[in-house]
Amino acid sequence: MVDVVEMAGQGVGVPSWAWMLLVALLALVAGAGALTLQRQKARGKRLYHRLQTATTQIDALRSRDALTGLLTRAEIEIALDEAVIRCDRDAKQLALLVVALDNFRSINEGYGLRVGDAVLTTTATRLGACVGDAAPAARLAGDEFLLLIDGGLDTAAAVAERVLASMHEPMQIEGLPLTLTASVGIAVYPEHGSRPKLMAHAALAMRNVKLGGGAAYAHFDPTMAVDMREQAELLQDLRGAVERGQLQLYYQPKVDARSLQITAAEALLRWQHPKRGMISPAVFIPLAERHGLIRRIGAWVIEEACRQAGEWRGQGLRMRMAVNISGHQLRQDDLVDLIEASIRRHNLRPERLTVEITESVAMEDTAQTRAAFDRMKRAGLHVSIDDFGTGHSSLASLRKLPAAELKIDRAFVTDLATSAEARGIAQAIVQMAHTLDLRVVAEGVESETQRDLLVGMGCDELQGYLFAKPMTPVALALWAEDDDATGHGAFRPSLFDPTQPAPLNT
Ligand code: C2E
Ligand code: CA
Ligand code: CA
Repeated sequence: MVDVVEMAGQGVGVPSWAWMLLVALLALVAGAGALTLQRQKARGKRLYHRLQTATTQIDALRSRDALTGLLTRAEIEIALDEAVIRCDRDAKQLALLVVALDNFRSINEGYGLRVGDAVLTTTATRLGACVGDAAPAARLAGDEFLLLIDGGLDTAAAVAERVLASMHEPMQIEGLPLTLTASVGIAVYPEHGSRPKLMAHAALAMRNVKLGGGAAYAHFDPTMAVDMREQAELLQDLRGAVERGQLQLYYQPKVDARSLQITAAEALLRWQHPKRGMISPAVFIPLAERHGLIRRIGAWVIEEACRQAGEWRGQGLRMRMAVNISGHQLRQDDLVDLIEASIRRHNLRPERLTVEITESVAMEDTAQTRAAFDRMKRAGLHVSIDDFGTGHSSLASLRKLPAAELKIDRAFVTDLATSAEARGIAQAIVQMAHTLDLRVVAEGVESETQRDLLVGMGCDELQGYLFAKPMTPVALALWAEDDDATGHGAFRPSLFDPTQPAPLNT
């Protein structure tokens, strides 16, 4: 600018109005620059302000569960810290309620995640209505919620009753009437533990309710922790059970519904515990699954069942061998390789090995389960969908599976004689299965009435105490000997191959 004025003062033949115009123009440009700078500053301030607001909003969102709008676990921990301090100061009590939906997984699997999410938001709203706005409520994980209320056990029990009643009201989700139940565990401060133990104790009480079938509440009790210790001991023993030869397979036959010919033997696992006696697979399989032991145990079952099938085949006892496969096993990458190796080792045909997978596991429809089913199909295995009717599978989802057999869950068979609903469900399952070319097996058949009803419905195969209980391999071979046939130790007719004489001693 100085240079320009100096130049203007020196005069170089340029008219003075032109200089003035130039100076005016430059002043204008400079002014505009200052204005822009000011505007930029203001804009920066506005942006900064907006950023600050957004950060506060994000923080607020972070303390809220995105789906339900309830507090997150981290936030309720802080609320719990504060509440405990208040309780100590005022010598008052505080109750934690852990609420978990029963069978939520089957809703998610059967109806899809959108319906599952809607169930969770409805649950959150109902829980809020049960405790009022003042009480902190959080979503801990999945289908688990936590309520924090002032008061002792009586107040907590009254709230738990309200929660159970409110959850029992049917929900209308996307036109579907869904009825759910919940399990509630209560821990009261200070009676049921110090601050760090409270949440775990309420959750333990909830799990105890679940073990008892759900749809109820219970408060923490120190024996619950003892049960956990017992479980820890059992787990310790289970780790060595395979090596010590304590596991055994029992076999329960399936028979053709009309001819009563043997069609298969289902291998059912038993644990002969040195101190506790025979332990049910319903007890130790979930434990093995939770603690990563199912792989070893499952591999042992497959190998032993195939070995036994080979031995029986050598004796002339022809039937399918069925093994149960848990969800954890199905997610194992090398499951089918393992099965194929055992089949080869014992010279079996893959279509004679039935792999029983429960409906809820079969419907998981993850990349891993899809891959496992694909491999089973390629390997030519006989796939059976176990406990059918308890999940929420549709005809469409069932069609996608390479299954050849469907087992009606025992619950429907048990109720056949007394419940028209059970009869309706069983009949519908048989019809649906036949539409898809699947054979239908009814399990848990205990009476002749049940047998006759099932035969009338067109069931293909039957299994249950009416015919035979699970038994040792030797007992099964004896059971399978047909006394009326030749009287020479031949086996009962089998659905496969002509029955051969049975040289039991070789
Ligand atoms: P599941 O596969 O549904 O097996 C049928 C269960 O019902 C067996 O119980 C059997 O003993 C019992 N049962 C059979 N017929 C009748 C009857 O007429 N009435 C009654 N009340 N019960 C009957 P178990 O042997 O205790 O097995 C329980 C569950 O443990 C099995 O249910 C299966 O899911 C699992 N399991 C058994 N063995 C294995 C295994 O080797 N691997 C895996 N992953 N799971 C296994
Ligand atoms: Ca089974
Ligand atoms: Ca079953």
